[in-house]
Amino acid sequence: MATPATDAAPGFAELPLREELLDALARLGYEEPTPIQREAIPHLVEGRDLLGQAATGTGKTAAFALPILQRMAEQGEQPEGSTPMALVLVPTRELAVQVCEAVHRYGRDLGVRVLPVYGGQPIGRQIRSLERGVDVVVATPGRALDHLGRGTLDLAGLTMTVLDEADEMFDMGFAEDIEAILEEIPDDCQTVLFSATMPPRIERMASGNLTDPVRIQIARETRDVDEAPLVRQTAYVVPRAHKPAAIGRLLDVESPTAAIVFCRTREEVDQLTEALNGRGHRAEALHGGMSQEQRDRTLGRLRSGTTDLVVATDVAARGLDIEHLSHVVNYNVPSAPDSYVHRIGRVGRAGREGVAITLVEPREHRMLKSIRRATDYTITVEKIPTIADIRARRLELTSAALRESLLDDDAEDDREHFRVVVETLADEFDVMEVALAAVKLAHEASGAVEDEEEIPEVSIKPEQKDKGRARGDGGKRPQRGERDGQQRGGRRTAGGMTRLFIGAGRGAKVRPQDLVGAITGESELRGRDIGHIEIAERFSLVEVPEAAADDVISALKNTTIKGRKAAVRRDAKDVG
Ligand code: AMP
Repeated sequence: MATPATDAAPGFAELPLREELLDALARLGYEEPTPIQREAIPHLVEGRDLLGQAATGTGKTAAFALPILQRMAEQGEQPEGSTPMALVLVPTRELAVQVCEAVHRYGRDLGVRVLPVYGGQPIGRQIRSLERGVDVVVATPGRALDHLGRGTLDLAGLTMTVLDEADEMFDMGFAEDIEAILEEIPDDCQTVLFSATMPPRIERMASGNLTDPVRIQIARETRDVDEAPLVRQTAYVVPRAHKPAAIGRLLDVESPTAAIVFCRTREEVDQLTEALNGRGHRAEALHGGMSQEQRDRTLGRLRSGTTDLVVATDVAARGLDIEHLSHVVNYNVPSAPDSYVHRIGRVGRAGREGVAITLVEPREHRMLKSIRRATDYTITVEKIPTIADIRARRLELTSAALRESLLDDDAEDDREHFRVVVETLADEFDVMEVALAAVKLAHEASGAVEDEEEIPEVSIKPEQKDKGRARGDGGKRPQRGERDGQQRGGRRTAGGMTRLFIGAGRGAKVRPQDLVGAITGESELRGRDIGHIEIAERFSLVEVPEAAADDVISALKNTTIKGRKAAVRRDAKDVG
């Protein structure tokens, strides 16, 4: 095997990227390119236009940021006051900042100058930075156009333009602004368009502005229905900050025989391993930064059952085949459907039921949707157990352990040693009180760490269209996180939404897509109007806009769901 020049993972070293970039990726702990990166980077470095269908979470930011940096470095150092070489248009302020941070991280050693440009921030400061000279501008369309109007943004020297999340920008009413900006870029400027969906209007914009583009779509895995693994697949929508606690709780409730938690980077593996150990789990790390000997030792412990929890990167876990593995946990939504399929293929073997758990940050929900669509797997979105659920579960475990001990004839003799203790205490206290104190001690001795803080409940809500579009005022737009996932307190529905009760659930094989299909097929609503969906064993709860609730109810009453008539009404518990 060829040895790469740097200590970057071989997958990256094969891409036409400079050492400085490979070093940055190695430092960040990226072990191999994601599919979109592997496919897009060579074409983009070559200067081709590109039309890519990819959602957040696929690694698309690096797929365009690395070529921007590579091409920038090829052009050599730019003088003070130079005009931007690359422009990235994004729908929101938050994404502008995220993309800037990414470009900055990857281009640290190249001394790249990046500037986020969005509404709601004093324009004077942006103008001064632009005057000093920047290499890459990451802007929301409204504010970019504002600068163009003022003559403070000069696109004459642009060699690369990226439209990121084009469908989002269209949904937010930026189509005209984008067209106006594209008018200003040089004819020979390389143009790249990424979009999670490819509706005709995006195709039209692409055909009008891209020249002979390379088309890339994350490959869809076709699957034989007979091969459907015996795996219970669930997903949980969790804000990033609460993910370690969420994993901890899920592991508490699931008590896996053996589990692998997949992370994206070495750093993430180390941090999560530490967090889980801090919560009383015994987790071991497995990643490419460890020596072969260390890795073999960890795998050996997992195989022999000495360890039951390993936190790993994909690369380190490659080829790993553990017979008794019961759980696969995706700490992030995998970057492509086939990666998901591959990971969950590790459980549910030999007729044993396996469990696949995926944590989804609100911004990653489209990636989950595309995995569902590509694989046709049923992945149910469920709620993270609450502190009360966890307490109840731990009490159950303590109670089960006590029952087992009481039923165990061999343990009877051992227990006799303690009779004198109980009898003595019983002279002084009520026997029930003695039992309570003993159970409490046994419970506490199990060493479980109790969470103090509830994990906020987040529902995957359809994006709301931004109507009041004021040019150059991106700051007033809803933030990504707010649009992608509304936080709900308790069971309150999101504003303007009503929860409907539908008398068919998991038992009737109802999946979220069946409900969305029935509602959009029978009423005026579109998929994006439908809010949080929850599927229980015997019923489902679906949020729809209050104004359309009656129509949806009467429409659904006249149709069947999964071939059956089901009761439909407003949910009695709905307080929204
Ligand atoms: P994106 O789809 O661009 O929003 O990226 C999603 C996340 O994946 C970001 O946190 C990136 O830092 C991370 N990421 C991107 N590429 C890789 C890679 N090749 N290996 C590991 N993590 C990555």
